Order: sequence, then C-alpha cells, then structure tokens
Amino acid sequence: MRTVIKLALSITAAALAACTRTAPRAGAEAGISPAPTLEEAVVSTDAGTLGIGAAAGERDSEAARAKRAALVRSIAARGYLRSERVIDAMNRVPRHLFVPDAPLSEAYGDYPLGIGSGQTISQPTVVGEMTEALELRGPERVLEIGTGSGYQAAILSVLAREVYTIEIVRELGERAEKRLRDLGYANVQVRVGDGYAGWPEQAPFDRIILTAAPPQVPQALLDQLADGGVLVAPVGEENTTQELLRIRKKGGKLTRESLSDVRFVPMVPGHR
Ligand code: SAH
Repeated sequence: MRTVIKLALSITAAALAACTRTAPRAGAEAGISPAPTLEEAVVSTDAGTLGIGAAAGERDSEAARAKRAALVRSIAARGYLRSERVIDAMNRVPRHLFVPDAPLSEAYGDYPLGIGSGQTISQPTVVGEMTEALELRGPERVLEIGTGSGYQAAILSVLAREVYTIEIVRELGERAEKRLRDLGYANVQVRVGDGYAGWPEQAPFDRIILTAAPPQVPQALLDQLADGGVLVAPVGEENTTQELLRIRKKGGKLTRESLSDVRFVPMVPGHR
C-alpha cells in the first residue's frame, strides 16, 4: 500500500511536492485515536439539509463523481479514512471545482496540484488524514490557516458548524472566497491576513488546522484554542520532512502527539 503513494508522488513535478505525506514512519499511525463512529457523530449540523455546498452539487458531474469515489476508496483502503462522515465529505466536495485548470484525471489523482502564486492544494490523502485527526462531530467552530484553493475549507464546511480561514496571499484568498460563495459553502468566512496572528475576534476555536508548516506552533494559535479543543499542524523547517502534530488542550494543559511525517509549503511570516 505504501508503494502506491510513492508512485503517485513520483509522477508529480518536484515543484509540487508539497502538502504531501512522506514515507510513513514505523508506528506513525499507532498514535491516532479512533475517529468518531457514525453513532457517536450525532451532529447538530447536517450539511445536506442546510444546503451547504448545494451549488457545488449542481455543478458536479457523473464522471467527476466516479473518479472521486475511486480516489476516496483508495485512500480509505490505505487506512487514512475511517469515519463515515469524513468519507462522505470527501465524496461530496468536488475537488475539481477547486482546481479548474486541471483535467479530471489530475484533479482526482492522489498528489498536490499547483493553484497559482507558487502554492499547492494538498494531496487528498493528507486532507483525509488531517480531517480525520480533527475529530469533527458537527457543532464545532474551526479555524484554518492557509486557505489556498478553499478545498480543505469546503471539506470542513460540511463537517462543522462554522469555518474561519486565513490566507496570506491576497489573490488566492479573494479567489477562494468567491469560489466558496459561488459553490454555496455559506458557513465559511475567508480573511486575507497573517495566520500567525490567528483570528482573535472570533476566538476561541474548537478546532484549528494549519495547512502550511510553521517552524513551531504559533503561540497565538495555542491561545485561541478552546479548552477541550484540538489543533492539527505540520511543524518543521522548510524543505525538510515535517511532523504532523495533534495538540489537545484540556484544563489549560497541552498534550502533543506526533501523527506522521509530511511535507508542506512553509507558513510564511506576515508583515507586522
Ligand atoms: N488548504 C489549502 C492548501 C494550502 S497550501 C487548500 O485546500 O487548497 C498553504 C497555503 O498557506 C498557501 O495558500 C499559502 O499562501 C498559505 N500561507 C502561507 N503562510 C501563511 C500565513 N502566515 N498565513 C496565512 N496563510 C499562509
């Protein structure tokens, strides 16, 4: 199963080798606690009945749905998707509408793709793994750092109550905001700004996800994590293998868990 990932990556241009999973470490998966079962996932938000992403559904196609289902099945078969809710979200959100210049075969390949401004939409396996790690049940308010194409935000949008996402590259942020609005992901708010500062006006957040890698988890984000909250982030220097960390806050105390080795674009410092 591991070879499949490497094969998929080897056909990707080196410049796009970001937001990917690197070769798994021994025992990397062992630290991941089980995602909620369908029974546990009693949700106050039902994306279907709320019409979240309804316009995306209308713009979807049979061909895209089939390719997406095959991709999702292969990610699940490799053990990165375990909860019905996340599988459903990945099946529901049309990734190809977030990479409009890519042919369907690329939009549903398991590798990152360029989205302009030197940035990438993450490898689907990594999106699945990180989304599972967040343990979303439905009522959460989520902060994402690194909006990029808006794809991860759309996935979060169908799994949580409210999504706040920050992008430092204005052009990407504005494009993603328009796309998310047009596709009907109405519970997502996009801000163009520096993710290192978080979004204090909307804090605290039940979940925080970073899709760009800082050298260390920014203190402002740890401060903006609610008690009982979970933060998932790739952490490490640029051009090295980074650690995918999950941090839990309980009674004001932080515990950290290393989930796997990944490779992300760097979280760049903003102008302050
Ligand atoms: N989640 C995205 C992919 C993210 S790629 C998707 O689903 O498409 C990482 C993104 O983080 C890039 O768009 C990059 O511009 C952004 N980024 C990098 N440093 C940042 C910072 N300090 N604050 C906010 N966004 C940042």
